[in-house]
Amino acid sequence: MRANGVGPDGLRVRSGTAWIACRGMAICLLLLGTVHPGCAEPARRHVLVLFENNRLLPGNVLGDRGITSALAEVDRSTEISTEFLDYPRFSGAAYVATVTRFLKEKYAARPPGVIIVAGDKALDFALNTRAGLFPHVPVVHVGVARSFLASRPPLPDDVVGVPFDRDFAATIGQALDWHPQARHLVLVTGASEQDRNWEEDLRRAAGRFEGRVGVEMLAGRTTAQVLKRVGELGTDAVVVTPGFFRDGAGSIFTPAEAVRLIAQASRAPVYGPFVTFIGTGAVGGWMTSFEAMGREGGSIANRLLAGQAPSALRLPQVMPVALHVDWRQIERWGIDPAAVPADAIIQFRSPGFWQTYSRETMAVALAFLLQSLLLTALLLERNRRRSAQSSVDRYRFELAHASRLAVAGELTGSIAHEINQPLAAILSNAAAAEMMLESGAARPGDLKDILADIRRDDLRASEVIRRLRALLAKHEVERQPFDLNEILSDVIALLGAEARRRRIALSARAAAETITVVGDRIQLQQVLINLIMNAMDALADTPEEQRNVALSLEGSATGATIRVRDRGHGITAEHLAKLFESFFTTKRKGIGLGLSIARTLVEAHGGTIAAESVPGEGAVFTIWLPRVAPGGSVWVGAT
Ligand code: ADP
Repeated sequence: MRANGVGPDGLRVRSGTAWIACRGMAICLLLLGTVHPGCAEPARRHVLVLFENNRLLPGNVLGDRGITSALAEVDRSTEISTEFLDYPRFSGAAYVATVTRFLKEKYAARPPGVIIVAGDKALDFALNTRAGLFPHVPVVHVGVARSFLASRPPLPDDVVGVPFDRDFAATIGQALDWHPQARHLVLVTGASEQDRNWEEDLRRAAGRFEGRVGVEMLAGRTTAQVLKRVGELGTDAVVVTPGFFRDGAGSIFTPAEAVRLIAQASRAPVYGPFVTFIGTGAVGGWMTSFEAMGREGGSIANRLLAGQAPSALRLPQVMPVALHVDWRQIERWGIDPAAVPADAIIQFRSPGFWQTYSRETMAVALAFLLQSLLLTALLLERNRRRSAQSSVDRYRFELAHASRLAVAGELTGSIAHEINQPLAAILSNAAAAEMMLESGAARPGDLKDILADIRRDDLRASEVIRRLRALLAKHEVERQPFDLNEILSDVIALLGAEARRRRIALSARAAAETITVVGDRIQLQQVLINLIMNAMDALADTPEEQRNVALSLEGSATGATIRVRDRGHGITAEHLAKLFESFFTTKRKGIGLGLSIARTLVEAHGGTIAAESVPGEGAVFTIWLPRVAPGGSVWVGAT
């Protein structure tokens, strides 16, 4: 490993044998009073890069970028001198002699440690002139075709590099793969020496496809002729060209400029083997990146500058190639995107909708998802509520029915009495009729009266049973219009016997008019039965002469008011507040559901129920129900 240090003359120098040798030489030269050009300055990281052609050639710009970045990776202060031979614009032995002299004098005081030559002709130049220029300075070649090296004697040991394959055949093959209908292969090249070399390469490569397509070579033509010809081509043709430096009329181009013109004029797709063609209108081709070639050359130079012997370097045989494509051309020529290999280097692919709007799309999708989730949750909630509601309705229905059964249980005694009375009357009437018949004194008129009594009593008994069955039957909830007055007479008929049993005067004052409501007649009966039974309970301790329960029905414009009034013990203010709550009871055997069921049923009919009381003086329960306007709409409520 060599170390850097500061020499006696103050320059940063590299220590080592070369430095010792030069220092010795410098001392003697100082003594002689002259300067030896090879040892004017100690060896340092100085690289001379010699490009074959001009400064602005796109390939040179890319190659230079690769060389510079590789050199800077090891030492940012590497001194890089760059020269351009400007072939083929300038050429010939005199020109070479002039450039050689120029370089010799220019770099006499600051000789390079490594020379990088870029391009076939630059390598040629170095090989021909290095003996007189920089005899012991190693040379690294970049951008030199393998076919060019093969055509020459082996390189000296200290001239190294990784050549590239100018893979015209791969590019032609690719073009024919993507355009299977092509029957005509048009090859274009120019008139310079380099162009002629390419022409040879092109012919060799095209030979492989001869059976498949007809080959037309446009070499050394004027640009106008080339453009005219490619403008005449049809979709059965493909053009493959490395571009050209000089056309048949002597005009100078860069290959990329030439390809741009060809692609603009051509009615067939144009392919070429250089990265710099991407963007000119060419579809693409198999190529080695100029920048990669530059980087390879720079890294070889780094190793040589670090002291490695050129012969000790282990270098790849050839630079790798890759398929480069211009996506716009892929689309323009209708090439199946699936036919583009996954490892192809693609340029100018406009980002798809997803890439452009990925954030917006994500946000919208997220919002949509959240909204869907919310909707689903709301729907589920609604279904749950519906099923809960229907369960509640079911339970309410069951409870109301159970409550009716319970009331019927309470009424058993009075009902039995209610039925017994007509049955007993029937029996005695039947006995009387029998006696009349046996005595022979039966007069038809008397017998007729007796039979009429029997029929009336039978009807009375069966009416009691009918009402009771109606009350106890487990019927579906109805919504029928009916006259509210009928309910009053129903409940009086059902509870009359019980009231008499308790020695209570039960009275009902019907409305003077028909009051039509819509709903379930049995449920509203049940409401009144609950209120009347409570009222009768409240009268238990009231003196007999004051025991009365009065029902009244009044109509108004929009509804009907039923009042159940008693003169019982009344309700305290504290109890009044909890009266309609489930399981509130003050009775020893009470359940506390009668009023809560009554409120549920009244509200299910769209009505209200309220209680008022002066403790000790009795209570009044007031029910309000909406009535049907004559010819008006029918109220339909849920129960
Ligand atoms: P229960 O009859 O099983 O007690 P209710 O819900 O029918 O259940 O009645 C609840 C309570 O309301 C009764 O226990 C009673 O205290 C009171 N109550 C209801 N009606 C009257 C009334 N007319 N007079 C006095 N108190 C009443």
